[in-house]
Parts: sequence; C-alpha cells; structure tokens
Amino acid sequence: MPDTAYNLTVGDFNCTVFSDGCLIDPDETFGLNCILIEAEGRKILIDNGFGENSTGTAGLLLDNMKTVGRKPEDIDTIIFDHGHIDHVCGTFKKDGSPVFPNARYIITREEWDYIKSPPGDNETQNGFYRHARQYLLPLHDRFDVVASDCEILSGITLVPAHGHTPGNVMVDLSSQGERLLCIGDIIHSPREFADPACLAAFDVTPAGAIKTRAKILADAARDGTFVFATHFTFPGLGYIRQINGVFSWAPI
Ligand SMILES: [Zn+2]
Repeated sequence: MPDTAYNLTVGDFNCTVFSDGCLIDPDETFGLNCILIEAEGRKILIDNGFGENSTGTAGLLLDNMKTVGRKPEDIDTIIFDHGHIDHVCGTFKKDGSPVFPNARYIITREEWDYIKSPPGDNETQNGFYRHARQYLLPLHDRFDVVASDCEILSGITLVPAHGHTPGNVMVDLSSQGERLLCIGDIIHSPREFADPACLAAFDVTPAGAIKTRAKILADAARDGTFVFATHFTFPGLGYIRQINGVFSWAPI
C-alpha cells in the first residue's frame, strides 16, 4: 500500500486511513487524515478533507483513494465530526457542485444549528465555518441531522465531545471485541499534551475543549484505547500514554 493509504481491520470492519495531505502553520505542520469504514456493504467516510479549496498542501483525499481503487461514487455516507473547513471542504468542487454523488451526510444537531446561526465576532471561527455556511447549508436535503450519541450502524456510534466546536463528536468503532476511537480534533498536536491551551484559537469554546480533552485523553490512556487522530502524523493511529501524570503519544 502507498504511504498515503493505510489499511486495518477493526473486527468485521475493513478500514482505510487516507491522507488528505497536511496543513502548514508558521510553527507546525499538521497531518490531515480521513478514514473509510467498509461494513455491511456500506462505505462510510469520516470527514473529507480540504478538497479543491486547498491552498496546496491538502486536498489529496480523492487521489489517494484512487491509488487503492476507491472512487467518490462508492461512498454512501460521510460523517462530519464537526464543520470546520479542513473536515468538510472535500464535499464540493470550487463551483459548489457535489464531489460524492451518492453520499448522504451525517452531522450533529448542535453542529448544524451552529452552522445555521449567523457568524459571531470571532473572525477565526467565522473563517473556519465560512465554507460550511456557504456550501453545506444548500445541501440540507442530503443531510441527516442526528443526536450526538447516535448509533449510525451497529458498532459505529457517535460520542459527544463538545468544546472544540458546539457539536463536535468522536466516532467509536466497535466490532468483535475490537475497538478504534476516532477522536477527530480532540487533540491537534502532541504539543497539547504538555500545554493544553497552546492551540486554543482552534476551539470555539477553549475552556470547554480543554476540559473535554483532559477527560478523553485520561480515559483513553487508562483504558489502553486504540485511537485515530485526524491531525497527527499519518496514519494518526496509536495509543495515548499517561505516565506519572504526563501524556504522550505512542504511534503504531
Ligand atoms: Zn481539524
């Protein structure tokens, strides 16, 4: 397999992590990973990256899907863990037309309501949500707006993780005694282990995000949960460790 597509199984689920490229900030380069879950004849994607709206280093999901024979028309469901630009822009081409012709989209009620609400005075967040407001709202007929703890399919369940955004969720994959917790943007960088507020500008409600992050990281470390992190270095799979109160990342 190319190093932009990583295949794994979680019980009966056949999963592939695809890189959408990376996001380059002045201080740091972040990964951008999406995961495809094939289960019960369904093909379910979590997030779809930057698409044609990328500034150049991201938007590679479709190319990377193609390398292992997956096409946009194969995808029947796309779960958005939240509505930020780097998670939803793969939905539409530059002219606004849909990229995944057969997909329905799943988003939480809190997140959809936030996208529907007028922009506030936080210009950073207004920028992060601009594309969702402009291009997702007109596709409302293709959206299933669900509760934050909704079971999408047997063994594929949303887990509320609000704070980063008002309707932010994780996706829990459980099958045949195996489990993968897709934590999305609960953490963006290992830097946040030591300094939980260092990327607070990414969060709609920083205090809430820090509280949610601390609990989820502690739970994952205690339980030895296998984790998929959207913005960690590809493929973003590994384990959270907590030793003497200090968190760290153990990639597979
Ligand atoms: Zn993100």
